[in-house]
Amino acid sequence: MSNIPQDAIKCLDKGFVRLVDAMGGDNAIVQAARVSYGKGTAKVSQDRGLIRYLMRHRHTTPFEMVEFKFHCKMPIFVARQWVRHRTANINEYSLRYSEARDEFYFPDPENIQFQSSLNKQGRLGQVSESLKSKVTDYFKEISDRSFELYSELNEAGVARELARAILPVNLYTEWYWKNDLHNLLHFIGLRSDSHAQYEIRVFSDAMAKSVKKIAPFAWEAYQDYVVRGLRFSRVEQGLLEQNLPTRVIDDVLEDITYQITASLNENKPRNDSDLFPLYKKEGGYDTEEDFRLKWNSGEIEVGNVRELREFKEKLISFKK
Ligand SMILES: Cc1cc2nc3c(=O)[nH]c(=O)nc-3n(C[C@H](O)[C@H](O)[C@H](O)COP(=O)(O)OP(=O)(O)OC[C@H]3O[C@@H](n4cnc5c(N)ncnc54)[C@H](O)[C@@H]3O)c2cc1C
Repeated sequence: MSNIPQDAIKCLDKGFVRLVDAMGGDNAIVQAARVSYGKGTAKVSQDRGLIRYLMRHRHTTPFEMVEFKFHCKMPIFVARQWVRHRTANINEYSLRYSEARDEFYFPDPENIQFQSSLNKQGRLGQVSESLKSKVTDYFKEISDRSFELYSELNEAGVARELARAILPVNLYTEWYWKNDLHNLLHFIGLRSDSHAQYEIRVFSDAMAKSVKKIAPFAWEAYQDYVVRGLRFSRVEQGLLEQNLPTRVIDDVLEDITYQITASLNENKPRNDSDLFPLYKKEGGYDTEEDFRLKWNSGEIEVGNVRELREFKEKLISFKK
């Protein structure tokens, strides 16, 4: 099995993730989307806006135009979780064909913790040094002994496909794993999350670095709308509708109106005298005097006009 290649990101004690090949990037997403929306966006800022629009509205197929191929080496118990992501193409090291190597995962003492009582699938709390040593010794003992028996059976000519079955799941395996950006982001969303097991998180975080480099706008949009975005159920919306004071909603709407005005002005600068009418046209309530004060304060943020208008629509729906 491979040692850690120079261009790989080391993961756990003996594993790695290495980007072998990538096809496309943010440009491929935009190119594919233009087929559905027609020609037009040429500027980088417009490309970013389009990618953000696609992500916001879950128009996902353009993200499938970007492909990533990784060479990864991980313990078998991590591969068991990884392989649940069904849209990838995989080719794995075969223990029917090749002999296993004496490469087992031994957890770093700082990652040896108690079973969490809060999260049934997690770990928590500090374990004593003596218990940590015991865990490390047991990992070592079972790995050494099983490998000894495996080697003995191998030397006696027993079929490798059978002999391998006595090896534990902390044995390292390796594979080539290819997936498209849409499904890779989905993988990272689930496996870099704090609820995922630490050992797979390490690999997911390593792959995320490649995504960030190759498709930075898509990565940013995924973080903004999926990872850090919030969705409200029908019941939750009902509660907000009932309890959010109209005064608070109006304050936020007013703030958005300022942001839309400033964003429109940034996209296509206006004469000073046209600014207040523009703000009014967008639904602003302030007097011209108040408008001037706020406008000159330098506190107004600039955003994406379409996104701000969508937010406005959502907020208006909360008004009784
Ligand atoms: C924290 C955590 C805990 C978990 N715990 C368990 C557990 O206790 N037991 C267990 O068995 N699994 C567990 N899993 C695995 C989990 O149930 C999923 O199998 C895994 O995360 C893959 O998700 P996926 O199906 O969305 O991904 P993928 O297989 O990559 O699929 C991506 C998307 O493609 C679509 N898709 C793919 N195949 C089909 C299909 N056949 N039909 C319809 N749509 C499809 C779906 O929209 C899917 O979301 C856990 C996962 C996580 C992250």
